[in-house]
Amino acid sequence: MITINDFNFKDKKALIRVDFNVPLNQKLEVTDTTRIEAVEATISKILKDGGKVILMSHLGRPKAKEDKFSLRHLISKVEAIIDRKVRFVSDCIGNEVETEVKNLKNGEILLLENLRFYKEEKEGNIDFAKQLAKLGDIYVNDAFGSAHRAHASTAIIAQFFSKNKCFGLLLAKEITSINQILNNSKKPVTAIIGGAKVASKIEVINHIMDKVDTIIIGGGMAFTFIKAQGGNIGNSLVEDDKLELALEILAKAKEKKTRIYLPIDVIAADAFSNDANTMIIEANEIPDGWMGLDTGPKTNIGNAFVIAGSKTILWNGPLGVFEMKSFEKGTKELGFAIIDATAEGAFSLVGGGDSVAAVKQFNFADKVSYVSTGGGAMLEMLEGRKLPGIEAILN
Ligand code: AMP
Repeated sequence: MITINDFNFKDKKALIRVDFNVPLNQKLEVTDTTRIEAVEATISKILKDGGKVILMSHLGRPKAKEDKFSLRHLISKVEAIIDRKVRFVSDCIGNEVETEVKNLKNGEILLLENLRFYKEEKEGNIDFAKQLAKLGDIYVNDAFGSAHRAHASTAIIAQFFSKNKCFGLLLAKEITSINQILNNSKKPVTAIIGGAKVASKIEVINHIMDKVDTIIIGGGMAFTFIKAQGGNIGNSLVEDDKLELALEILAKAKEKKTRIYLPIDVIAADAFSNDANTMIIEANEIPDGWMGLDTGPKTNIGNAFVIAGSKTILWNGPLGVFEMKSFEKGTKELGFAIIDATAEGAFSLVGGGDSVAAVKQFNFADKVSYVSTGGGAMLEMLEGRKLPGIEAILN
């Protein structure tokens, strides 16, 4: 895998695609800097070599040039994290940008305006990609969160750099970590797949079934499986059009000798509210008017036992409505079990928007082996798909 470590950037302009799609509050202040911190190592190495850094990213889903989606709102945070002055140009292609790039000195950083102010970015327009490509000598892709998109700046652009293209340190680490789960894993391997929707995770379950020994299914999606097996799930979340599919998955797992664990008991509530009345009940005996919102104590002990015996752990999706205190326990205890297993030498990878949020909420982030920055991109890799942003560098 070719990374920035294979290049010396002295006197070179590094055009880096980063994923600065960070959340902003009403006052347009950055509320979570994880994605900026994640590319700090890449930027530092290039500056240390004596190179010039040109950063390009998208932010949100602008319809036109709207100030609330301007990357200028990120300048102070990027400066604080990289500990250098950051120059900014209010466009990403054209004469003004080219002049700024020409004036850029070794060791300086230039941040371009939101790529998605041009619809050509998402269209993967080749002329737009060519205009961007003019700005750099070496193309670096460090935007894992966008690697599953064949956009101008994430994939199409790479063809203009012949051999002068590579992965940034973040993207390289993401690829290595996911491959560690899929290919080089120490056994036994356990995947925990939770969250609300079966539909969004079904392909992941299908693909990883060949790679893992055990799959723990939790969260709202578990009830589709429980109902499919004839259980009473009351008013729990369910996708009735996925019942057949759920049975097929269970049958396939049996054939492949992959163990699938569903919750055996749950915390059921009489309303989707932190203050609802609750009871602990078997997962397949939930009465009408009640819904399962978290895993119950027996399930949590079982999960902890499975995790303790695992050498490789993948966690994607919460086991309950962890945003509400009354229903956080299953997710939290799972997190503790993963931390303990990691401390004992297991490799643990956490990814997917909501499990990352959970890991942060419970302060687990630095106690697992790796927290992925990409939601959709990670899921697509786990589904066994080739990501355009990665292929463009490899080809
Ligand atoms: P997803 O986006 O599919 O990963 O789902 C994440 C969401 O699933 C979180 O916001 C959780 O609150 C929610 N969730 C987890 N378990 C349940 C459950 N038993 N019932 C309803 N929602 C749930």
